[in-house]
Amino acid sequence: MSTLRFQALKETLSRKAIHIEESERRSAIFGENVFDQNAMLQCLTKDAYNSVMDAIENGSKIDRKIADQISSSMKDWALSKGVTHYTHWFQPLTGVTAEKHDAFFETVGNGRAIEKFGGGQLVQQEPDASSFPNGGIRNTFEARGYTAWDPTSPAFIYGSTLCIPTVFVSYTGEALDYKTPLLRALQAVDGAATAVAKYFDKNVKKVNASLGWEQEYFLIDSALAASRPDIVMTGRTLLGHSPAKGQQLDDHYFGSIPVRALSFMRDLEIECMRLGIPVKTRHNEVAPNQFELAPIYEETNLAVDHNSLLMDVMGKVGARHSFKVLLHEKPFAGINGSGKHNNWSLSTNTGVNLLGPGKTPMSNLQFLTFFINTIKAIYENEELMRAGIASASNDHRLGANEAPPAIISVFIGEQLSAVLKELEGVTDGKLSPQEKTDLKLNVVGKIPEILLDNTDRNRTSPFAFTGNKFEYRAVGSTANCANPMTILNTIVAKQLKEFKVEVDTLIEEKDLKKDEAIFNVLREYIKQSKNILFEGNGYGKEWEKEAEKRGLSNNKTTPDALKAKVSEKSIALFKEMGVMNTVEAQARYEIEIEEYVMRIQIEGRVLGDIARNHVIPTAIRYQNILINNVTGLKDLYGKEYKKFAEEQLEIIESISKHISKINNNVTKMINERKKANKLEDLEQKAQDYCYKVKPFFEEIRYSCDKLELLVEDELWPLTKYRELLFVR
Ligand code: ADP
Ligand code: MG
Repeated sequence: MSTLRFQALKETLSRKAIHIEESERRSAIFGENVFDQNAMLQCLTKDAYNSVMDAIENGSKIDRKIADQISSSMKDWALSKGVTHYTHWFQPLTGVTAEKHDAFFETVGNGRAIEKFGGGQLVQQEPDASSFPNGGIRNTFEARGYTAWDPTSPAFIYGSTLCIPTVFVSYTGEALDYKTPLLRALQAVDGAATAVAKYFDKNVKKVNASLGWEQEYFLIDSALAASRPDIVMTGRTLLGHSPAKGQQLDDHYFGSIPVRALSFMRDLEIECMRLGIPVKTRHNEVAPNQFELAPIYEETNLAVDHNSLLMDVMGKVGARHSFKVLLHEKPFAGINGSGKHNNWSLSTNTGVNLLGPGKTPMSNLQFLTFFINTIKAIYENEELMRAGIASASNDHRLGANEAPPAIISVFIGEQLSAVLKELEGVTDGKLSPQEKTDLKLNVVGKIPEILLDNTDRNRTSPFAFTGNKFEYRAVGSTANCANPMTILNTIVAKQLKEFKVEVDTLIEEKDLKKDEAIFNVLREYIKQSKNILFEGNGYGKEWEKEAEKRGLSNNKTTPDALKAKVSEKSIALFKEMGVMNTVEAQARYEIEIEEYVMRIQIEGRVLGDIARNHVIPTAIRYQNILINNVTGLKDLYGKEYKKFAEEQLEIIESISKHISKINNNVTKMINERKKANKLEDLEQKAQDYCYKVKPFFEEIRYSCDKLELLVEDELWPLTKYRELLFVR
């Protein structure tokens, strides 16, 4: 075994689980490092507290004097917890979080110093952010961007730093981050959903979108991970032969959690508790060393922040436990990848889940209204929904028989399908008293019973209704949830807005009663959007054919999928709903497409290096051993030697063939890369990287993996799959 591999394995095997003390109940430490409502009640004056609450609930502005009070109290609270620095915490378009720490410490002359944190520093900061991707926004408009406090997501302490969640915008007001459009989308869906919810309850004042994400990830020992340049540089393995045992025994899924992993999870969960991230569920996933963590759902903006924070905290806690946390969608070929289901629903300030059936026929009509409008929204915007989850890494997963296909469809289960069928038959125009009674008793009235025993689950669906929420399953594990959540909430907002207009028109112009009008519009929606409903096997080839007939898109790669983000229709939608203007939408598209190019470029380079610097030299060394052996046999046996050297000669030849294939393909790949790099047009560049550069990955990998099986284990420099996945 190569020295590097040997050392890494030895280090891994010598590790023991870190013992985690848990002296307090989780509920007692929950949120202790968060400047939440509780902390604010204790630390702020009444005026300041009311002002923040008003900002949170109604989006009102916070007066400068009050901001000074708040920042001063926040500082005292933080200092009492040993904090030294503060930072504006934001989510630039790299998708990961960014921070720049400043100390509270200030000198005041005469060699004296104090701790200071003014309102201005709380409310606004100007990071030197010229290196963040901006899709040309700041070049065209204004050179600088600034961060501004988002009071709807509470400040928190991480390590010795007070983190203040902020939006990141240019001086001309364009959003430079993922959070700003999300906040706008949430506002849009609030407005539209509240207006519709008022049909059913006049007291509804606000509708919140909720999100419960389920984060999947792999844990790999850090020494083993460090021995693989591909994992270090790209977060995934670019080569590696499948181990004899993979996940076929299904012995990992929901199995007992390995001790070291469990100790990591406990440590992580305690950190999460302190940060107010309400994590609740943990379990083994399908693949070896794959796990999942899920919280109790929260308001979407907060849930998105919490997931971004979690991904960061995971890395840090992982390091303490000598684990490299792999969030990549497909770290290992031949083994399941990771996703991040986004569970989504809408709920009112009166405490009603609009996607949960109620106890009365009227509340069920409300449920059906939101349920059917969501289906229609997905139908109208399926291509945009696909674009919202597109990334180089998620391409490996979509359509790979383990995750939903690249075709967006909606699964609702047999029972609700039957309900929709009934509703489809509702009379056009006014309903007879008999029909109304029938609907009340037999359709709308029966929904709670139906759902109680509706245990339908279809794991192959990208967007499935699961009892009281929709589950957007196609989201990738590395994704910043803000991106798909912005799209989902925007399209639902737009749909609900249209619905309201149509219902009101029927009431006014056709003199229909409110519920008659609603039934009428819903009937049409069901007819129009039927094609998005699919209950069958999403992995099957037949579905691809069927989906094509239905006119659904099937964009298998990111460069193809992303285009929907800047189609005329999408741009008009974002504009109409006040979520993004043309420049903002275009900028995001450019950044995402550029990111795609860079990811594939890096992978190509790393793969080329490993193939030429690690694999080929190793294969040659082993081939030389064989050649020596054959020469020795020749010395011993003279002409007869071939009798004893047949196998050796065969392997020598095989090695040469693979080496020449690898070398050829690496050269061709590099040439394609060079050609692609010269292209000015970003879209064309992405196309070329996708369809001309990337196909070589598989070819190169194939030969390398064959060599892994041929070459003596002693010599092989790269830690093998069986070691990465099974040595603990
Ligand atoms: P699974 O889908 O794996 O069976 P659950 O249905 O229990 O798991 O929940 C998964 C996630 O969905 C959790 O984060 C949970 O808090 C969240 N969730 C449950 N109900 C809702 C809801 N009404 N709206 C949004 N998320 C929800
Ligand atoms: Mg789920």
